Amino acid sequence: MRNNKNVSWFCYGAGGIGQLGRLVDARRRAPTDHAVFLADAFFEGSELVKGLPLRDNDLLEFVSAVKEPTTDAIDALHERVRAARKELPCAVVGIGGGCVLDSAKALSNLLTNGGKARDYQGWDLVKVPGVYKIGVPTLSGTGAEASRTCVMTRPDTGLKLGMNSDFTIYDQLLLDPDLTRTVPRNQYMFTGLDSYIHCVESLGGSYRNAVGDAFSREALRLCREVFLAGDMMDDASREKLMVASYLGGCAIAHSFVGVVHPFSAGLSVVLGIHHGVGNVIALNALEEFYPAEAVEMRAMCKAQGVDIPRDVCAGLDEDGFKRLYQSTIIHEKPLCNALGDAFKDILTPGKVIELFKRM
Ligand code: ZN
Repeated sequence: MRNNKNVSWFCYGAGGIGQLGRLVDARRRAPTDHAVFLADAFFEGSELVKGLPLRDNDLLEFVSAVKEPTTDAIDALHERVRAARKELPCAVVGIGGGCVLDSAKALSNLLTNGGKARDYQGWDLVKVPGVYKIGVPTLSGTGAEASRTCVMTRPDTGLKLGMNSDFTIYDQLLLDPDLTRTVPRNQYMFTGLDSYIHCVESLGGSYRNAVGDAFSREALRLCREVFLAGDMMDDASREKLMVASYLGGCAIAHSFVGVVHPFSAGLSVVLGIHHGVGNVIALNALEEFYPAEAVEMRAMCKAQGVDIPRDVCAGLDEDGFKRLYQSTIIHEKPLCNALGDAFKDILTPGKVIELFKRM
């Protein structure tokens, strides 16, 4: 029986961002203690950043989410933060979507564990707790605020794998649905569907437990309300989706994803397609594994007037498809979860390439 960890503290509510200063200050033991704020570069110069409760000694770093985090980018961030102050920070605060939330988790782990980001790609390799970390999601769906991983790609090998560890889980979350008001519509939909897909994959797998299932079922119910009834971006829907994202992340922390995420990882590594939209493109072509869900997801996109990209692999040569196969099949745990130990008998190279050609 596995012992499961969740986020220790969270506060939830519209306008909650005003509480951030109180949460960070509670971590300061001396007036000189500093916190590190990581914010999505998208917010540079915004009211959100101008309103951050920075003290004199604090550091503010912007993280670009245009490309998903690499181990090299995480190492460079770690070195900058290390070089800027002699002492460890009292808190690392991540403000943004999945990329920024994950970067903050990785930074926190590296600050206390040392070494390089790639040393911790895998399961339970982080040795000691990281710096206290506070997550403030500005996008709903990835579940990065609740999950026990921080996804990053190692450029020299193409390995897309996070620091799967109980130490990666946030200590404190501040969930403020007002912060998702300005997300572009397509991005909001594709990222939100990440939560739906996490739950579909969890419930469709063999590594299950009753608590994880309950998180998944409630998150699915909320996703259906958000995407199938009314406007997905009105106040009530944004509140529901933020909860669904958190619950979906908890569900994944108690189980594994399935067939969709490995294919999405392939699209990300080879074609640079972002996680959320990559999942949607993948599920759209993986109907034989998730028949009802693929149909339901299409209905959700149609109801919200969002088109699912097609023919994304057009123009790839044989070598490109080979790399797609390799960067998909490497994800043994989720594929095992979905298809059993003999998953390679089902997902032969020919089969995987045929599925990618349908995307
Ligand atoms: Zn995901």
